[in-house]
Amino acid sequence: MNSIKRLTIGKADVVFLRVDFNVPVKDGIIKDTKRIDAALPTIKYLLEKDARIIVASHLGRPSGIGYEEGFSLKPVFEKLQEYLGSANVKYSKQVIGEDVNSRVSDLQPGQILLLENLRFHKAEKKGDTEFAKQLSALGAKFYVNDAFGTMHREHASVFTLPGLFPMENKAMGFLVEKEYMYLNEKLTTPERPYSVISGGAKVKDKIGLLETMIVQADHILIGGGMMFTFLKAKGYNVGKSLLEEESLDIASRIMERAGDKLVLPLDTLAVDSIESPKYKEIRDVNAMQDSDIGVDIGPRTCELFSGLIVKSGSVVFNGPMGIFEIDEYARGTVAVIDAMAECEGITVVGGGDSASSVKKFNKSDKMSHISTGGGASLGMLSGVNLPGFRALEE
Ligand code: AMP
Repeated sequence: MNSIKRLTIGKADVVFLRVDFNVPVKDGIIKDTKRIDAALPTIKYLLEKDARIIVASHLGRPSGIGYEEGFSLKPVFEKLQEYLGSANVKYSKQVIGEDVNSRVSDLQPGQILLLENLRFHKAEKKGDTEFAKQLSALGAKFYVNDAFGTMHREHASVFTLPGLFPMENKAMGFLVEKEYMYLNEKLTTPERPYSVISGGAKVKDKIGLLETMIVQADHILIGGGMMFTFLKAKGYNVGKSLLEEESLDIASRIMERAGDKLVLPLDTLAVDSIESPKYKEIRDVNAMQDSDIGVDIGPRTCELFSGLIVKSGSVVFNGPMGIFEIDEYARGTVAVIDAMAECEGITVVGGGDSASSVKKFNKSDKMSHISTGGGASLGMLSGVNLPGFRALEE
């Protein structure tokens, strides 16, 4: 896979840079600039090369039939001007067409043209070849993808467009390269023991991950709401805890194939109501009552999991151990995060809720890597060669 540093970009060469500027915007104000900040190293690198840069992104879910103010990238344009100097950053209300072509021609070396939201065209999400050709007709010589959060999508700008560039002219940006290094290279030949912590709500979302980890990992630690589907499949009463009836068979199959690798909780924090409990009890998993709702792993499980995590050479954390959004039910998630922080091996946090929980408990700087993409990181950990990467390789 090409790194951006291997591209032979010359002064005034045009580069098409796909980024993920899908930032939260309210009343025209960006509420969190994290995603813009994350793309800056790649943008600055290209600016130092004196390239002319076409920057493209999606934002939210517009209807796909043209410009919609609420999904405009204009606030991002203003932020980029603030970061990089107003003279260096231009904006195009169009995504494709003659007007955009002439704006690209007018670009000076070391200048950026930010296109409007790619998803103003339905063709983007459809991976449409004609649309990709029109993007390609903007005249870029190089294609760089730094939009990790979209790598699992077969969208036109992520999958179809790079297919139109020769291998030597397309590459990963710095953000995508770091994700690739941790989620692929370092975990394909992991330092052992390799422990995977899997939690969160749904078994269904994690089947691919669990099946891959049966082959790759040494320990698969199960927590979160999904643990109850496993416990039920073992024949235990799980009371009123989260249960995915339709995944009972697959849970049994996974347990059978994984054998000792799969480590289920020993105990759980049980309540009779999530919002206003009359009782909160630690229960052994084989002694749950009909009225119980399991909201977290219990203390003996925290100890068991922490012991395995601390001694691991590589750890992946995907999905919280309980309803961590409520402080009283966050102890298991905190225990796992603390053990990861203490672990001297490689510690990787999947995107989405796992990343938010690590941030919430202030341990971000203690992890080797926190992924910026939920679906994309889960896909990679499940062993899928994501469309965005395939398009850079072919
Ligand atoms: P996921 O998106 O599948 O990773 O699920 C994350 C969500 O799972 C979080 O919002 C947690 O609150 C929720 N969760 C974790 N443990 C439990 C549990 N025991 N019961 C219900 N929801 C849970």
